[in-house]
Amino acid sequence: MSTPLGHSLMAAAIVPLTGKPAMPAWRLWLFALFAANAPDLDLLAGLPYHDPNLFHQGPSHSLSFALLFGVLSGMFFRSARAGMIGLLCYASHLLLDFFTYDGRPPYGIPLLWPFSENYWHAPFDLFMGVRHGVPGDSPAETLSQIFSWHNVRTLLVESTLLAPLTAASLFLSRRIGRTT
Ligand SMILES: [Zn+2]
Repeated sequence: MSTPLGHSLMAAAIVPLTGKPAMPAWRLWLFALFAANAPDLDLLAGLPYHDPNLFHQGPSHSLSFALLFGVLSGMFFRSARAGMIGLLCYASHLLLDFFTYDGRPPYGIPLLWPFSENYWHAPFDLFMGVRHGVPGDSPAETLSQIFSWHNVRTLLVESTLLAPLTAASLFLSRRIGRTT
């Protein structure tokens, strides 16, 4: 899985290109960041079983959930644009995970669930993936994984690859804004 920073940078690349916000800017950004990280809320479902990975990268990492999230967002905010932003930010999470190293079977994400049980992953990794321990690790081991140099490098790679995308999006949106 990618880090929340990587997913948030994807949201930051999407929002400037979606036109003027249909809500206060702070609420739009909060919503977009939530949407881009929402699929990983499935980690919480495993907590009662002492295994955050138990349900991780299951149906919440499918295009069906992205569509559902977009529809519900549009209904909640009574705004088609909010629905589109919700869909795009949620789907950007799937895109990032698709290109991120996955060291745990089943490898990849069930993109086409419930129509297919197959897991999909890019033929190559663009991103390293974050380490957060495995079931049975002590709290100290888990913390040492989370605050490891590997995760620092992961953050650096994500920032290096995605920050230019965000910057380009901001630049482009301002250019468009000036000419319309
Ligand atoms: Zn994920």
